[in-house]
Amino acid sequence: MPSKKIFARYFSSPRQIASFSILFALLSALLFGGITSLVLHNKRESSYDVLARDIRSYLRHFFEDLHATADGIQALTVADCKLVTGELTSRAAFNVNVRAFLLINDGIAYCSSATGSMHMTMKDLMPDIDLTKNVDLAIMSGTPMMPGKPTIAAWFKNSAVDGRGVFTTLNVNLTPYLLFTARQSQVMSMAIVVGDKVLTTLSPELQFTRTLPPDPTRIASLSNYPIQIYIYGTAWPSEDIQLSILAGLIFGLLSGVMCSYFLSVRMRPGKEILTGIKREQFYVVYQPVVDAEALKMQGIEALMRWEHPTAGMIPPDAFIAFAEAQQLIVPLTRHLFELIARDATQLQDIFPPGAKLGINLAPSHLHAPSFKDDILAFAASLPPDHFQIVFEITERDMLKEKEAVGIFAWLHDQGFELAVDDFGTGHSALIYLERFTLEYLKIDQGFVNSIGLETVTAPVLDAVLTLAKRLNMATVAEGVETREQAKWLIDRGVNFLQGYYFSRPLTLRQLISWHQSGQDDDALKNAH
Ligand code: C2E
Ligand code: CA
Ligand code: CA
Repeated sequence: MPSKKIFARYFSSPRQIASFSILFALLSALLFGGITSLVLHNKRESSYDVLARDIRSYLRHFFEDLHATADGIQALTVADCKLVTGELTSRAAFNVNVRAFLLINDGIAYCSSATGSMHMTMKDLMPDIDLTKNVDLAIMSGTPMMPGKPTIAAWFKNSAVDGRGVFTTLNVNLTPYLLFTARQSQVMSMAIVVGDKVLTTLSPELQFTRTLPPDPTRIASLSNYPIQIYIYGTAWPSEDIQLSILAGLIFGLLSGVMCSYFLSVRMRPGKEILTGIKREQFYVVYQPVVDAEALKMQGIEALMRWEHPTAGMIPPDAFIAFAEAQQLIVPLTRHLFELIARDATQLQDIFPPGAKLGINLAPSHLHAPSFKDDILAFAASLPPDHFQIVFEITERDMLKEKEAVGIFAWLHDQGFELAVDDFGTGHSALIYLERFTLEYLKIDQGFVNSIGLETVTAPVLDAVLTLAKRLNMATVAEGVETREQAKWLIDRGVNFLQGYYFSRPLTLRQLISWHQSGQDDDALKNAH
């Protein structure tokens, strides 16, 4: 059906909706998946920042405390070991992080909180410590008391007395790291780095910096102490990637469903028609029908127009056929009735009583249960006894003969006239015409177009006119565009003429001004 094709130009087909929705779903899946992964990545990165900052501040406090404790012990470095062992031992005992404090004089460890008096050179004990520095740190593989357990050693020089200072070994307690790691499931490992030696969470043994994996995720370091913590994490953990894919899938699916819902339900042509009615996108134009003998406007045919806000003007052939397919012809025709009723008082001023008002009825409306009520309501909404309504019905609708006979009879009883529209285009219902009593036969513009051309139409047209006369039907020629056509038709005895040659379909306003300027009669007379 060509009208369906026309309509498809204005609205999308289910297949188009489906492919558009799939494309939309894919794009939004990519978009949402991408956004989610970026958000998770940023969150992960900033959580690494927080972790590095926390570790740094923990280390700073730890070493500041230790430094303060060591400063408190510095006074003991000028005393005899025997006199201070008690105090040294209790200082170590009260500091949970300290294994032992050693007092140093000229590179010799001479007093220990654990073993009392001793004599051991720092070169043997801890060659990595630089005694000339105010503060130095080193990692040892063990202490004499705890040989297999790596530890961190710290040196604090006595700033008042040359050559003296406090040396301490620490309990390397991984608890804080474990706490941090537990909070940060994506942290794979950490390493404490001092000089070229390393303690890692991966191995209980001492390691060397060269064995560490390159590019730690974060490094926490202190300005006053030569110690660093390397944090190893994943930038794109599989957990985040899975979550992003899931988010992408869910959002993609949702957007796809929403898109197809919107396109097929909200934007569905049927819905469009109802929206169009609600938003007053439809209006009526009236095309004059001219008496062939008197060349006077005898009546008008109401034709519907739809100005869609985005698709523009949609041809009535297209939207009428579609409204029929969508079961919306009844509300649409009721709306047409309403629009005509609104214009009726102004039309009454232009036309004398008995003027013909042609209205097209769609076949499917004729058989709708509400048909009679709709017609009666429409008739009641018009000024009483003024217009002679002529319902135009296409040939093809007369094929349901039995029903048609009843409906036509009822319409006649109500005082309406009937016209066969588009005669000559359908599955010729010539034989049916004898069984109905209809007032008018509208000759399709296809016939009129071929007037003057060398075709076989002329004899057919003659036959049609003869038949109409025999059946006592008045004839209306549609689509009269030229003077020649008009003359030809008038000469053949056609009763009424309608077409651009006389007037295009006009809005109510145009019709009124056309009437007021008196052009109507003049224009028609010129046609003679
Ligand atoms: P139709 O009932 O045969 O209406 C005549 C059509 O011919 C109108 O087209 C009219 O504008 C056009 N026409 C008139 N004079 C000329 C002419 O000299 N040359 C040419 N080329 N065309 C001319 P329109 O308004 O586009 O309507 C097309 C069809 O849509 C109508 O054919 C009718 O079947 C349907 N239609 C229009 N309005 C309504 C309506 O309110 N209800 C129903 N059910 N159908 C309607
Ligand atoms: Ca018509
Ligand atoms: Ca027609």
